[in-house]
Amino acid sequence: MSVATEAQRQTATTTPAAAVLELDDLHVAYGAIGALKGVDMVVREGEVVALLGANGAGKTTTLRTISGLHRPTSGAVRFHGERIDGVPAHAVVGLGIGHSPEGRRVFADMTVLENLHMGAYRFKRLRPEDLDRVFTLFPRLAERRTQRAGTLSGGEQQMLAIGRALMGRPELLLLDEPSMGLAPLVVAQIFDIVEEINAQGTTVLLVEQNAAQALRIADRGYVLETGRITMHAPASDLLDDPRVRAAYLGETAH
Ligand code: ATP
Repeated sequence: MSVATEAQRQTATTTPAAAVLELDDLHVAYGAIGALKGVDMVVREGEVVALLGANGAGKTTTLRTISGLHRPTSGAVRFHGERIDGVPAHAVVGLGIGHSPEGRRVFADMTVLENLHMGAYRFKRLRPEDLDRVFTLFPRLAERRTQRAGTLSGGEQQMLAIGRALMGRPELLLLDEPSMGLAPLVVAQIFDIVEEINAQGTTVLLVEQNAAQALRIADRGYVLETGRITMHAPASDLLDDPRVRAAYLGETAH
């Protein structure tokens, strides 16, 4: 290999991928109470980024603000460099941002199939290949397509919430605590599927309290504490960090 080619290769491997999502000094308040107090974050094309933090740190607020469900009091949300704070939630979906919300929020009285149809509402009609993709990722949903969503197990409801978000064919998928309340085996399954979704080309921003699982599949991670980012680093560094281990991996600090 020539020197020039090697240099070009080096540049290609060290240039970061384009930013898909940028949060710039984001402030969000509920009445007089500030929930986000100047959050800066970037998610690059093809990444899985984990957003970690304790209860009430502001993780859900961050995702809901990206999705257009909350308006920031100041700061910016950019998608491919364009401001999207102020864009209504349904239009944010149309831009290519899918959101699997905290607590899953499936439509309990609708069937699995009807829930998936709801996820495709931005298209005139449902594309069979999108349904095929979801059913290939989650064969359990295919088996239960006519079952009422309210009667699914917690893990199946989580699969449905992710599947429903995928039906909008998102470029960026926001996942709010997919592991919540699920048995370890099911959690591992869900995280494997998130990895697979990412490998198929979807960028992922993953909110989690289960730091060990999240960092296992993430490229980078941010730690949010009472509305402020206190750490950001490659996921492997965060896994090794004594403060992260003590606060989020349940280890006692030495
Ligand atoms: P958890 O892991 O418990 O879901 P979180 O990190 O997702 O927590 P948020 O739900 O974003 O945290 O909440 C951040 C802060 O904002 C908390 O102090 C919470 O009480 C407050 N908050 C969230 N939603 C509202 C609301 N609708 N009205 C008033 N305060 C709110």
